Amino acid sequence: MNLTHIARRRYTEGQTPIEFLPNLSEALNGPRIHIKRDDLLGLTSGGNKTRKLEFLMADALAKGADTIITTGAVQSNHCRLTLSAAVKEGLKCRLLLEERVEGSYNVDASGNNLLYHLLGAETMRPVAGGTDLAAGMEQMAEEARSEGRTPYIIPGGGSNALGALGYVACAEEILAQCFESGLELDHIVSSSGSGGTHAGLVAGLVGNQAGIAMTGISVRAEKAPQEEKIRNLANAASELAGARQDVSASDVVVRDEFVGPGYSLPTTEMTEAIQLFARTEGILLDPVYTGKTAAGLIGMVKEGAFDADSDVLFVHTGGSPAIYAYRDEVLG
Ligand SMILES: *Cc1c(COP(=O)(O)O)cnc(C)c1O
Repeated sequence: MNLTHIARRRYTEGQTPIEFLPNLSEALNGPRIHIKRDDLLGLTSGGNKTRKLEFLMADALAKGADTIITTGAVQSNHCRLTLSAAVKEGLKCRLLLEERVEGSYNVDASGNNLLYHLLGAETMRPVAGGTDLAAGMEQMAEEARSEGRTPYIIPGGGSNALGALGYVACAEEILAQCFESGLELDHIVSSSGSGGTHAGLVAGLVGNQAGIAMTGISVRAEKAPQEEKIRNLANAASELAGARQDVSASDVVVRDEFVGPGYSLPTTEMTEAIQLFARTEGILLDPVYTGKTAAGLIGMVKEGAFDADSDVLFVHTGGSPAIYAYRDEVLG
């Protein structure tokens, strides 16, 4: 695989750290747990969308865009980071906010919503859950064109093949860091939402024949449709990156038992995971994504999914700005 021929902006200086978590590993009495600190990526309180935006914004700039249009839930990290990248590139940004949980939109809410206002989103348009978001964004693009603008639409989560290349690059970064440090990883655990992160990591691992197992913890969808979505997206990203090998069904593993009652709705295991990471390692997780993903990691440790003598990498995809809008979920 070779990403060098694909245009890319850079929003992070160097690599994000891989840290060993001795206190958490000991508390769980399981394998050695390490963490990839993608919560420390660049842009406004970075997270996984920063990596995808390096490729997506380069494409938007190449196409002469002046207005970025994207969509997410009402507390979307993706919307915050897309807006932040647009600010950095001198572009305008308009957001279509999906109220996935009825009554969840509040114009005065804290967390990411506060940051949409502070970073200067041009439009924040709330719509009911289940709305056709692609059509909604196309309508916003049409409005922008009628104002003489050149819009560029970024899909929810930045999860198309181009965006997923951000996590192909991350897989290659992880392999390079492991080569430097001598860390031999057995398993990687990450969130699986709109899918670009999971798909990009799988594409990068398979394309580099890394021989490292990977599990995606779903935060919304059921196992079968999510696995199909991830495999399709991973193959599309592999093709863009010039890989010679297809991602097969056995390369894609999704666990959906940690979603609980639904996207962004709390579970006891999520709250416990957030508190455990905070109180053993001082690391902040969020209730929507990384808290449930960590609950999945902890659940897998407890069920004996990993050898005691193995090395597991938890990918921290960010999201901590949202905790300020979820006091009860975080404190339990
Ligand atoms: C978007 C997001 C995810 C999910 O990543 P996808 O690429 O959409 O699957 C995980 N964690 C955080 C903090 C996110 O904002």
